[in-house]
Amino acid sequence: MECDGVRNVIVIGAGPAGMMAAIAASDKGAAVTLFESNEKAGKKLFITGKGRCNLTNDCPTEEFFSHVVNNPKFLYSSIYAFDHDEVKKFFEKNGCPLKTERADRVFPVSDRSADVISALERKLKKNGVKFVKNCRVAGLLREAVDFEGLHSTDLARNETDIQSGFLTDANESGKKEKKKKLQYKYRVMGVLLESGEKFYSDAVIVATGGVSYPVTGSDGIFFRTLTTLGHSIKPLRPALVPLVIKDENCRKMQGLALKNVSIELKNGKKIISEGFGELLFTHFGISGPLILTASSEYSRKYGGVSRMLDENNAIRKDYSKKFDKSNDFGHNENICVSGETADLYIDLKPAVKEEDLEKRIIKELEANGNKLFKNYIATLVPGKMREVFPDIAGIDPEKPVNKITREERQAIIRNLKGMHFVVSGTRDFNEAIITSGGVNVKEVDPHTLESKLTKGLYFAGEMLDVDAYTGGFNLQIAWSTGHAAGVAAAE
Ligand SMILES: Cc1cc2nc3c(=O)[nH]c(=O)nc-3n(C[C@H](O)[C@H](O)[C@H](O)COP(=O)(O)OP(=O)(O)OC[C@H]3O[C@@H](n4cnc5c(N)ncnc54)[C@H](O)[C@@H]3O)c2cc1C
Repeated sequence: MECDGVRNVIVIGAGPAGMMAAIAASDKGAAVTLFESNEKAGKKLFITGKGRCNLTNDCPTEEFFSHVVNNPKFLYSSIYAFDHDEVKKFFEKNGCPLKTERADRVFPVSDRSADVISALERKLKKNGVKFVKNCRVAGLLREAVDFEGLHSTDLARNETDIQSGFLTDANESGKKEKKKKLQYKYRVMGVLLESGEKFYSDAVIVATGGVSYPVTGSDGIFFRTLTTLGHSIKPLRPALVPLVIKDENCRKMQGLALKNVSIELKNGKKIISEGFGELLFTHFGISGPLILTASSEYSRKYGGVSRMLDENNAIRKDYSKKFDKSNDFGHNENICVSGETADLYIDLKPAVKEEDLEKRIIKELEANGNKLFKNYIATLVPGKMREVFPDIAGIDPEKPVNKITREERQAIIRNLKGMHFVVSGTRDFNEAIITSGGVNVKEVDPHTLESKLTKGLYFAGEMLDVDAYTGGFNLQIAWSTGHAAGVAAAE
């Protein structure tokens, strides 16, 4: 606890959010201890950007929020206080020169994520942060306080409650706290390690991540501890993840990448997502930048419940045996999350108007006379799509083009301007770049990242119910929320 006026801060999780929080708190003079369950820091950070780490995005800060899928307003304060320029300055100053590439994506000049991690580790060391590796935090210690937040009671009872994960009146207290803002019933006192040891502190910052790529350490186990404190967790769904399409024609096109196409993803008449860019057909469905972006909107609103999660929002211990079959690209239900169906329409010729396309096709069909449809189609669609297009359009591949009927011509145009597939879900968390859902941001102060239910408890990073599209935005969220929590916890 506070000693000689120095605040003691504990940070749980040495991912980008936790490391930045530890640095910000120690910059402000706090004595910081950082606990990490892995043998090293930043295991997920290491694999970001295909090992190159797209650590932020250089777009103007006002534009940043249009790339955030969930709760952008919650991030205003933390992003403006520590934006992409501050992040760039931080890394340049700490020995990691940066460069900006296409679409304002920022990477280390070396193209090595390891250099981003080294810069953070050097700064942690320089600031005297005590970094404890191979150490899992199992729970939080809290004490009861009266409504003025003045004195403590009943410590032992509450320690036992949290340790066992037993649900106390915390939910009830959560409701009361909503009405009586900042009149806390509990204050955090420190952490309980898996070994049974207790460490006391003035503040605790939880930066344990979401549940995507759980092999990197973010296994969701800490969400349970937070629910025992009365926090609600918005449903966790895989996001920035490939979409599943159970269609033989789609499977036959695996490996085919399409550039400069546009898509529309719909649920009934409602447009879930639309965009222009690149996509890739796979054995199980469809992926690529356009699709990953669409998946975030789809998952949140129409995605199902992952089999990888238990009822407490943690990754099941036996998941790797059942689900982590990285070589299985089939329709194994265990590695898919079934959701509501959605209709995907791919416009293969977005630059050409439908009437112009029709004129062109009429002309070509006339000019090609006896040419078989399967040979003619090679001029209209790419690679493996040539083999499946006749089936998709319902036209005999052996038919001479001068025998093609008006209806068949319409079918060609319809499929070129809106090839239709039914999406039945997403791949699971082990292939998801990010987790949608997490700690309900209504229960967190957006300026300080402090819990509104337990004093001295702060959150940072992917564990919060905020997520963004690809492009360096998710790491920027981790840096900014980590920084805000670190500064506030040290004050
Ligand atoms: C393949 C892939 C590529 C990506 N590429 C990019 C990219 O290029 N740009 C981008 O912006 N985003 C990218 N992301 C997303 C980005 O990596 C995450 O948003 C970011 O890592 C979240 O940071 P975090 O600190 O909140 O959580 P994490 O990075 O998940 O860190 C949480 C840490 O907490 C530790 N921990 C968990 N529980 C405990 C416990 N009980 N006790 C102690 N320690 C614990 C974990 O071991 C882990 O080290 C990518 C993600 C993936 C999976």
